[in-house]
Parts: sequence; structure tokens; C-alpha cells
Amino acid sequence: MYYNETTTIFLDGKWMKAKDATTDLYSQTLHYGAGVFEGIRSYETEDGAMVFKAKEHYERLLYSAEKMHIKLKYSVEELVSLTYELLERNNLQNAYIRPLVYLGQNMALQPTDEVHVLLCAWNWERYLGNQQLKLMTSSFQRPNPKSCFVEAKVTGHYTNSILATTEAKNKGFDEALLLDMNDNVAEGPGANFFYEKDDKLYTAPLGNILSGITRQTIFELANELGIEVEEKFFTPEDVYQADGAFFTGTAAEVAGIESLDGHSFHLKWDETLGATLSAAYINRVQKKEYKNFELV
Ligand code: PMP
Repeated sequence: MYYNETTTIFLDGKWMKAKDATTDLYSQTLHYGAGVFEGIRSYETEDGAMVFKAKEHYERLLYSAEKMHIKLKYSVEELVSLTYELLERNNLQNAYIRPLVYLGQNMALQPTDEVHVLLCAWNWERYLGNQQLKLMTSSFQRPNPKSCFVEAKVTGHYTNSILATTEAKNKGFDEALLLDMNDNVAEGPGANFFYEKDDKLYTAPLGNILSGITRQTIFELANELGIEVEEKFFTPEDVYQADGAFFTGTAAEVAGIESLDGHSFHLKWDETLGATLSAAYINRVQKKEYKNFELV
């Protein structure tokens, strides 16, 4: 699904076939989850493939590496240019790009200087699909910010996400919504969360969540469209009263939500600010907004 016979990856300074690449079973990342990564999308535009917010994603990768004491020997500019080469070599335009920085042999709980860099890409449909999602409040909290760097995209943090999504699916929901350590709504397992009430949007402040690049893009688009957004703490009970809600993330883009814990939102998705922003987001990433932008 992610690669075939001809897929090319970038690994430690070389271009090679994905099928020929190997890794060390004594990798510290494999045993303890101490690796950092990104999830980036490129879009086909009139000017060719464009990697959306490439600089912001690689700045976050460098930040994540630094927080985990990983010495990454690439600059943002080098990583951006390697990403365009990766797309070209694989003949990809609309793609999901996965940079992964992982560590070599080390069974001790200290960093190692053996740092590996993988860049790979594949075609990936919208991660959460196109249907409005039924959410449940997770029994799992997001990691306490005193237990890790929540704003770093660390591989090991995703065990929490896997538990939450699996619990939600096993209970017949589409996805989970996780609370922070104070029982306020934080975010989804792989996306930030917004809700709409009386023509205004609300989202959790930074501190217990990943600082999403799509979340930031939504702030920019909302500002341009005159939509008010407030960052504040809120509970699932506040969300039960919402008019609408959505997730934002690179893989999910802007994903509409229908209900939380069986409480349906008041508006039909098409009537929500989320639907307007979803259309605006797609126009922005495809650089189409000045050509056929329409408010839905
Ligand atoms: N929160 C979590 C936990 C995530 O994994 C992601 C996806 N990277 C997001 C939020 C959204 O971040 P972004 O918009 O930068 O993809």
C-alpha cells in the first residue's frame, strides 16, 4: 500500500528502492519510541506539485529533534529541496510525505549519535474520509505536558493516539476526542479540534496539544473570511451544545464532525463555518483561491 517495486526513498543521504532498504533491529527508536517525524502533503497545482507549508513542517521536525536530543544534520532548506526531488523521482503530485528521523543501535536510555533520516511518500486519501464523523470522548487523556514535550512530534507519543482510536472504533465510533489532564478537550489522536457556537469558532489553546500547521492555516483563513476564532479551555459538555465541529490536520485536512458521544450538532455540515473553511482550505492548498473561490 505504501510502496511497490519501483518506489524510491531517501535514506541517509542516498536514493534507493524502498524494497531494498533495511533497518537495524536494535534501533533505539524501535524499542523505546524515541524518534521524530512529520506528515506533510503536496498538491498538484497549475505551477506543478507544491509542498504545502514545507518550511513550517521541517522547522517543526528540527524542533522535535532538538527536544529529543537528536542531532539532525540537515537544514530546513535541504529537507525542502530533497522533498521536491522525492516527489519528482516517484512521479508524485498529490502525495503524503513522511519524513522520519530514527536512531541507531542503543539499548540504553540515552541519546545516540547514530541518526538516520528517511523521506518517503505515497498517495493517501483524506485520512478520516469525507463523511462526517461520530466521535466519543476518549477514556485516555493526552499525555501530561510535564511527562513529555507535547509540541514535539515524537513517534512514541502515538501509542496514546493508537489506544484512543482503537477504543473509539471498537465502541462503534469513527474517532476519539481526547481530554487534557484537567478534563478539558485537547485534540484528536491525529488532528486538532474546533467547534462552532453562534457563528464563532472555539479551539483549545496551546499547552496540551500539538501546534498543528493546519490549525494555524485555519486561523489565517478565518481571519481573511472575517470568522472569529477564540482559543479557550472547554469541556465535552460545551461541545454537546455546539452548532458544528471539525478536525484539522495535514492528513485529515478539514474533516467534518457530526456528533460527540451521541449528541448531534445543530447545523447540517454544509451550513457550518467548518464547511466554508474546508472549501477555503482546499482552494488554498491547490492555489486556486484567486481563480474560482466560492463561499459555500
Ligand atoms: N494533533 C496531533 C496529535 C497530530 O498528530 C496532528 C497531525 N500532525 C495534528 C494535531 C495536526 O497537525 P498538522 O495540522 O500540523 O498536521
